[in-house]
Amino acid sequence: MFENIPVEVGLVHEGERVRKNDMQVELGGPSESEKFEIVRVLPMDQVTDGKIEIIGPDLSEMEPGAHYPIGILVEVAGTRIETDLEGVVERRVHEYANYIEGFMHLNQRYDIWIRLSKKSFKKGLTSFTLIGRVMHELFRNELPIIERVQITFITDWEKIHPLYAEAMATYEARDARARGLSDDDVDEFYGCALCQSFAPTHVCVITPQRYANCGAISWFDGRAAAGIDPKGPIFAIDKGECLDRENGEYTGINESAKKRSMGEVDRVYLYSAFGYPHTSCGCFEGIAFYIPEVDGFGIVHRGFRQVTVNGLAFSTMADSTAGGRQVEGFHGISIEYMRSSKFMHADGGYNRVVWMPSEIKERLKEYIPAEVYDAIATEKDAESVADLKTFLETHHHPVVKRWIKEEEPAEETTGAPVVFSAGDIPVTMGGFRVILKNAKITAEKVIILPVKPPVQKGR
Ligand code: SF4
Repeated sequence: MFENIPVEVGLVHEGERVRKNDMQVELGGPSESEKFEIVRVLPMDQVTDGKIEIIGPDLSEMEPGAHYPIGILVEVAGTRIETDLEGVVERRVHEYANYIEGFMHLNQRYDIWIRLSKKSFKKGLTSFTLIGRVMHELFRNELPIIERVQITFITDWEKIHPLYAEAMATYEARDARARGLSDDDVDEFYGCALCQSFAPTHVCVITPQRYANCGAISWFDGRAAAGIDPKGPIFAIDKGECLDRENGEYTGINESAKKRSMGEVDRVYLYSAFGYPHTSCGCFEGIAFYIPEVDGFGIVHRGFRQVTVNGLAFSTMADSTAGGRQVEGFHGISIEYMRSSKFMHADGGYNRVVWMPSEIKERLKEYIPAEVYDAIATEKDAESVADLKTFLETHHHPVVKRWIKEEEPAEETTGAPVVFSAGDIPVTMGGFRVILKNAKITAEKVIILPVKPPVQKGR
């Protein structure tokens, strides 16, 4: 199928990582503010099947070890394809690009991050034309509704800039379609298992009010994809019975999660980061992270380069969040989910959000309730948990009321277990240091005693 391609192409390469020391070049990623990939459906006569165009320097002309901007424009046509499917076809760029040996593609839309390995470059993968040819073959073979496809790679920043603005407007128009529709208005949700090659137990549940973690697939996209290929990676989930309206638990979702995760996940809360939170693969646009000292949540998005208020960067917390697990207090989310009235509904929604980067706070201004907006700190207001505590108190954040409740003496007889969860818990004993990775400890009672120095005999 892939004649004259100098490297292997296949599922086996999906999920491969290219480390910094092994990379020939890097495209997009955190160092580039404007990058995109977008699919557009055009009339048949405007698409030349198999045409690959490169605007700007090609891979062979790039300085080894350097990073460059990137835009990928995929234009498709077919008698049965409609603009409704653009988002779904677009998500396949990630999958197909990752089939190529030594070509790492992460994320989606305006967050893409690509690395080419030195090894594959040496084998002859020296042009976007080769990447484009592989993608063209895969689009034509895997999605028969696509009859023509042409692909343009843009690496010239001047050309990327106007196209980036157009792409952002298109993403916004797609996302806006599902706003206004509630989870109660529909009988079916959709599941997406496209990321199972990276996180085998992960399935996204896509509802009108809980957008996919990657921010690339809406409920409408799910419906369109499941409609044309019901046995494909995006499928319908019958809602079944609603077991818990607050947390968003449905029998249909639980059954589907159990089946698709091979029994690993059998309960899912759509609107909570506690209990049975939605799993996170690794493509999430942001993380909601619990800050126990203030009993609130911080939010950080992929593009935030500094450390957050808890002293950890996005990349560090992403390791604790990803992998298709249900990690209480580390919750992968999309930006669009933050526009939903069901956003972490069971945990208090925005009344529980205490910190977020100013860029995101500004972007979401019209979706954050006005009465709490000024009480949410950003990196400009608080750089540490101590700063944050002071800020929340002086701005009368609703979360402060929870502190007062918690300061009241606890009933010893409740018997409710105390759950600690943390990224890594180090224990030192017998001359060894044991690190419990992603440990979760449940205890019926916690006794905290001051450590006294040992009594020296004879004194
Ligand atoms: S993050 Fe979720 S919706 Fe997006 S591609 Fe992966 S599994 Fe599908």
